Amino acid sequence: MNEVTEKQGEMTTRLKGIAVSPGIIIGKARLVDRSRVKILYQYLISEESVSKEAERFKRALEAAKEQIIAYKNRMPDQIKQHSFILDTHLMIMEDTMFLNATIDAILNEKINAEWALMKSVQHIRQLFSQIDDEYLRERVADVEQVAERILRNLAGRKDENTLHFSDRVIIVAHELSPADTSAIDIGKVMGFITDVGGRTSHAAIIAQSLKIPAVVGLETVTNRVQDGNLLIVDGASGEVFINPEDDLIIEYQEKQLQHEQYESRIIRLSHLPAESLDGQLIELRANIEFLEEVTAAKDLGAEGIGLYRTEYHYLRGLALPTENELFEDYKQVAEILSPAPVVIRTLDLGGDRFSPDLAHAKQANPALGLRAIRFCLKEPEVFKTQLKAILRASAFGNVQMMFPMISGLTEILDTKEILGEVMADLDRAGMAYNRNIETGVMIEVPSAVAVADILAKHVDFFSIGTNDLIQYALAIDRINEHVAFMYQPFHPAILRMIRQVIKAAKDAGIRVSVCGEMAGDPLSAFILLGLGITNLSMAPWSIPMVKNLIRSISMKEARTDVRRIMQLDTATKVRNFAYAKIESLNQDGGEKDLSVRSRRENLRPLARKGR
Ligand code: PEP
Ligand code: MG
Repeated sequence: MNEVTEKQGEMTTRLKGIAVSPGIIIGKARLVDRSRVKILYQYLISEESVSKEAERFKRALEAAKEQIIAYKNRMPDQIKQHSFILDTHLMIMEDTMFLNATIDAILNEKINAEWALMKSVQHIRQLFSQIDDEYLRERVADVEQVAERILRNLAGRKDENTLHFSDRVIIVAHELSPADTSAIDIGKVMGFITDVGGRTSHAAIIAQSLKIPAVVGLETVTNRVQDGNLLIVDGASGEVFINPEDDLIIEYQEKQLQHEQYESRIIRLSHLPAESLDGQLIELRANIEFLEEVTAAKDLGAEGIGLYRTEYHYLRGLALPTENELFEDYKQVAEILSPAPVVIRTLDLGGDRFSPDLAHAKQANPALGLRAIRFCLKEPEVFKTQLKAILRASAFGNVQMMFPMISGLTEILDTKEILGEVMADLDRAGMAYNRNIETGVMIEVPSAVAVADILAKHVDFFSIGTNDLIQYALAIDRINEHVAFMYQPFHPAILRMIRQVIKAAKDAGIRVSVCGEMAGDPLSAFILLGLGITNLSMAPWSIPMVKNLIRSISMKEARTDVRRIMQLDTATKVRNFAYAKIESLNQDGGEKDLSVRSRRENLRPLARKGR
């Protein structure tokens, strides 16, 4: 809610937007005009002029490509890993739905280039609006930004590269494109706030990498702020104050100091080993969904990627990814991390993740339908393309492969058969790959728990996917708000299943880790550690908290506590026991803020990115 209070004749305005990159800044506003190009003219073209009009469009498109390439070449080093965002813009310009549809509209409907372009965008926008996934829905912004750039070129507007300032400022803009954000000079830009954008917009992701605070989705901030106004921006709460009162400035200066101290503790922790008081080392890895998260994961102390979710390339609404596109992506992740491991999980489509390009998309009961490995075994060509890309990437780092939603041995055997065929194809083509690539399965279906001893003989590792295991074991749809209160990670049934899987893995001598949300919450992580898990994979930002926990417990004591926990008969009793235990710990010299998530009542997995 937005409020206004008075300050010596001036008004303090409080706005609340979407917090996307933490940190507090107090500084002067600089309005950046990124207003949209209005299409004033929609007109018909004569038969003789249509090809010229198509040429005019192609010239504007070519100019747009050159501009993007120039931005890419100028990108500062610390965000070089995001250059693929600009590649995405280049790819959109080549996409059939975008390029051919626009040219066809000019030629067949005989309409001007601007009109034809907006028709294509409208069509793509409509397709994207049907996607359930927040991250992918927001990707339509990329298409709009590309169109905007071409429209500017059609209108003969100059490409502005105005994000250079003489003083340190807070940028205030309607929207920032990837090209804008990649041109940000962090020496001069303290942070930014925008009218539009979401949690997973590229601007947000880049702000996190640059470690500058940002708040987006403020709706009308560009109308409320004037150049030079004093601003307070809280990138953790999403609050923005325009012309703040003196008391507020003092309060936020204090908060700024606390945040800086908190950050330095996190940084200090990220360089320390995840070692318990009695000397046991725990391996902490990160779960990621995009190549661009790798650097942040490493900075936060991840010792590898324990779960690389690979659906993004299939869900973006354009054509299915090619083997080479996937290979380039996986290879980069492998190279950045090498020699640390990256576990690439094969496609987990279905459930709450649909691709508009693939058949079998909408199903009546998707979580129990043709999802993940079932879908891949039904569509071997799609599967083989991904397997080839993963195998080829394995020549460039420590790549491991993991299969989701395995419910029994037959699926593993069928999968291995396809993997064998793909290896033979690569051999014939003389392509390099790691023939001994380690393969593992996610244990996230109750039947897989029951036969974990059988499965363990056929794979190199297990990774317990507690998000789905809870969903399937307790019959609670993980994305259905009506039953959210029954989604109970601390349910004794879940803990027993996890214990059973750990035992099966240990008996067979294979590794076992946990990569569901339970791994990233200090309360449940404590139980997992006490059950004997020594490898946890979680959202990058959870790593410092869990590391803090590990460094404050004795593993011997945790095992004793968890033996008692396993005697408790309800989820509430389990949770309360673990809560009391965590509260009593002397974490990092008494600082409990790093375990703040453990106060959450319910550990629901947030179905997708942007949670
Ligand atoms: C899980 O199910 O616990 C898991 C990690 O996978 P996802 O959340 O992608 O289904
Ligand atoms: Mg899962």
